[in-house]
Amino acid sequence: MTNHMFGAIRNAATEFGALFVETTDGRRWTYGDMIAESGRLAERLVERGVQPGDRVAAQTEKSVEALMLYLACLRAGAVYLPLNPAYTLPELGYFVGDAEPRLLVVAPEKAAGAREVADRHGAHLDTLDANGGGSLLEGLEATSGDFSDVARGADDLAAILYTSGTTGRSKGAMLTHDNLLSNAVTLVDYWGFTSDDHLIHALPIFHTHGLFVASNVVLLSGGSMMFLQKFDPEEVLRLMPAATTMMGVPTFYTRLLQHPGLNRETAAGMRLFTSGSAPLLAETHRQFKERTGHAILERYGMTETNMNTSNPYDGDRIAGTVGFPLPGVDLRIVDPESGAAVPQGETGMIEVKGPNVFKGYWRMPEKTASEFRDDGFFVTGDLGIVDGRGYVQIVGRGKDLVISGGYNVYPKEVETEIDQLPGVVESAVIGVPHPDFGEGVTAVVVKEAGASIDEASVVASLQNRLARYKQPKRVIFVADLPRNTMGKVQKNVLREEYAAIYE
Ligand code: ATP
Ligand code: MG
Repeated sequence: MTNHMFGAIRNAATEFGALFVETTDGRRWTYGDMIAESGRLAERLVERGVQPGDRVAAQTEKSVEALMLYLACLRAGAVYLPLNPAYTLPELGYFVGDAEPRLLVVAPEKAAGAREVADRHGAHLDTLDANGGGSLLEGLEATSGDFSDVARGADDLAAILYTSGTTGRSKGAMLTHDNLLSNAVTLVDYWGFTSDDHLIHALPIFHTHGLFVASNVVLLSGGSMMFLQKFDPEEVLRLMPAATTMMGVPTFYTRLLQHPGLNRETAAGMRLFTSGSAPLLAETHRQFKERTGHAILERYGMTETNMNTSNPYDGDRIAGTVGFPLPGVDLRIVDPESGAAVPQGETGMIEVKGPNVFKGYWRMPEKTASEFRDDGFFVTGDLGIVDGRGYVQIVGRGKDLVISGGYNVYPKEVETEIDQLPGVVESAVIGVPHPDFGEGVTAVVVKEAGASIDEASVVASLQNRLARYKQPKRVIFVADLPRNTMGKVQKNVLREEYAAIYE
């Protein structure tokens, strides 16, 4: 048996001298360097006592070396477990206690605090900084890098990735070699990636979008990428003429649009911009098209499932939709309670099945059981519609559904109406406790600078557009919506903040 995922990466690396990844300080790694460096790191893992199946947790800054650690884990048969650097020490303690890694790698400045966490759970502790410094790589240049990959089958675990924690405590999703490989191969093909592509990589790599979608697609197409520490519109625009593709979250696009340097010339050499992780406003899609000539390709995925749907590469990329189920992915819309399919065009729970879908939540057998149907479909928790042409639209999360006076109110429908009003930048509609209605529909709105709208004018404008039970009972203006690092609006934060407004 070969190593399922890394064997495929090796096969795609046909040109050892070709560029794989570079950083803005001028460092470059060829495919040959990638194989040598991940091999040396895999040897280091073995030295540290990491055995096949063991977890390796990493809470580090984004760096090429951190990406190499992921590849080293694949090769050593270990299970890679990246953690958001923003997590506090007590949170780190929770994740380490839950995952029981053999090795914990942290940024040097976190080492003192992490020492106690590592000792308590019997993990070896190493450090890694943003430039490849730290104990993890110490003395490694001297070793050969000639590592023979541990055999791993399609169903062996490759990673445990924690969900973003948008709706509650993060859950560890167990992803196999084939979950990652099958999805990356599909995306390379669907989005037309080749060895000629150069990707702007400005996403974090503790999350499925930057770690798997972006990095695995580059690796499996033999292309290259520019690895940026973080998203900076100025920097991205400077690099754009030398790039062909960018993968982003919606905030990347809204921030690029605020920059005067975004125009047709800067984007002339680009062939693809993709968006995901959170809904892209139709208005952003339209403005981006107008400024650059490019229709952003929006797709939909989750930590648990990798990518599920995508707008077409050739064909209409429709704003406000996430496109079609990817080849090999079965998608259906069902009544959340009964699980019965709803008629085409009606809203229901999105369920998916395919080689992309994870094996379950780490050490949460009950949670896993409750999120899978008997026939193997995974209940995503997202509500959606399939339109007459087969495009999937995400209506929102099941947990964000507002039930007011016994009626279901889908926040997205109300948000879409509010977002169209002159002077509105964006909105978030939430349900908060209401003495008469159970939940009161509440709109939190960001307005344009100088816009003259107020609560009464928004309410009045919606009067003829939405049924009475869908109309917000209160409209609250804020400077910004609270968002996490992936650009997801944190509705739970808003619900807490405004929990008492109808008391
Ligand atoms: P948690 O599960 O811990 O509450 P999370 O669901 O935000 O957090 P992720 O796995 O990072 O964690 O995000 C997946 C979710 O992101 C999807 O279930 C969906 O709600 C949302 N999402 C992803 N892509 C899109 C998109 N293009 N449009 C709308 N929503 C999207
Ligand atoms: Mg989720």
